[in-house]
Amino acid sequence: MTLDPKDWPAFRKTAHAMLDASLDKMQNAREGRVWTAVPQDLKAEINTPLPQGGISAEQMRADLEAIMPYAPGNTHPRFFTGVNGAGTPSNILAEMAGAAMNANCGGRNHIGPVIEQQVIRWAAQIMGMPSETSGIISSGTSMATITALKVARDEAHRNHPGGELVGYTGAQTHSCVRRAFDLLGIGKDALRLIPCDENFEIDLGALQAAIDKDRAEGKTPFAVIGTAGAVNVGAIDDLDGLADICAAEKLWFHVDGAFGAAAILSGTVGHRLKALSRVDSLAFDFHKWWQVNYEAGCVLIRDPRLHRLSYANRPEYLRHSEDGLAGGDFWAVDYGPELSRNFRALKVWTHLKTHGVDAIAEVVERNISQAQYLKRRIEAEDKLELLAPVALNICCFRYDFKYETNEKNARIAVDLQESGLAAPSTTTINHETAIRVNLTNHRTQESDLDMLIDAIVEMGKELE
Ligand SMILES: *Cc1c(COP(=O)(O)O)cnc(C)c1O
Repeated sequence: MTLDPKDWPAFRKTAHAMLDASLDKMQNAREGRVWTAVPQDLKAEINTPLPQGGISAEQMRADLEAIMPYAPGNTHPRFFTGVNGAGTPSNILAEMAGAAMNANCGGRNHIGPVIEQQVIRWAAQIMGMPSETSGIISSGTSMATITALKVARDEAHRNHPGGELVGYTGAQTHSCVRRAFDLLGIGKDALRLIPCDENFEIDLGALQAAIDKDRAEGKTPFAVIGTAGAVNVGAIDDLDGLADICAAEKLWFHVDGAFGAAAILSGTVGHRLKALSRVDSLAFDFHKWWQVNYEAGCVLIRDPRLHRLSYANRPEYLRHSEDGLAGGDFWAVDYGPELSRNFRALKVWTHLKTHGVDAIAEVVERNISQAQYLKRRIEAEDKLELLAPVALNICCFRYDFKYETNEKNARIAVDLQESGLAAPSTTTINHETAIRVNLTNHRTQESDLDMLIDAIVEMGKELE
């Protein structure tokens, strides 16, 4: 008994049909509804007893095709929720090869580590970090942040044994930073949320004051976490200013560049990210603005020695030898918390090779200029008002109602999602509900934004 097909020719036919259905999904990404709630009857069909016997590949293919319309919708050009990449059909090729190789990329001597290291070298080069920078491809920025801040924490413990560690980040920080502090045992309360200025960037004066206060109270400041592209409004902290403070105070400088680090490729905004070359560690996502299909994040650590000190403690049964399968000088398990790992680097490698960095740069630049276009359209509409500056790729605005403004704007966002026409989200800006439109999608066109604004204005009129 093996689990291989009994009838390979029939299986091939099914597999080719599945490939066609997957390509159809991508080729027709613009068509149909953006998002559709999972129907009750489909939920009921899925709620089966534990399968004791199997079904045919052909039946399974039909079941797979039946669920494909009910993804979040981020492949569609009018998906504006959160910060999600749109993915590419070329990724399907890498995923097929990767699934066939079924490689565990935690270690051992095979092609996985070779390609992962190449991707890390490219990533460091793009971000302007030194060539010896180490790193791994992670599931996402949340995991990359944990991976990086452990290195920062360990170094602080070595330098300040027994010190009560405290770290600093702007009030617009992503929740994954607080979560990392919690998981690493530093404690959520040891993360100081520093107020932001009117541009939603961390206030450097307030940061310095907080560091001084903690030092005066005998605490041990150890890290500053800057944000390059805050998830709410797209603000970019003054990274050079943060790097200066970290250098003067001897603090670890980590940047969360989940989506915003990609803007280093932009001719118009790139200068604001130049100081990524000065970080001790960087976390960002290939699955957001880079458009690699989920999931692919990245952590980069400037000092490979410190990186290894935090993770390289392999037990005997995983020991190196010079030759054979246990050889190879890069084992990802020496650079992060996981042993068994997917071959994620493969799809990043093929993505960068297939499209080239210039095409990604064009996507990023187009989304940035689309955000400015959206801003102009909002400014031109009497009833619409911007609620935050548009620094990058996110617009936060609202319809100006006479009463129940927050409720009605939230209503508009949900109604739009349920209409299938577009999927903006909402957020809170200075205690007011904003409709939030994020642009990290290589398929979005200006006409999609026109459709969105026209719909919002019309819905607003009806709700007045
Ligand atoms: C998305 C995001 C994260 C979390 O990244 P994941 O890949 O979802 O784990 C962190 N910070 C910012 C600014 C983000 O946009």
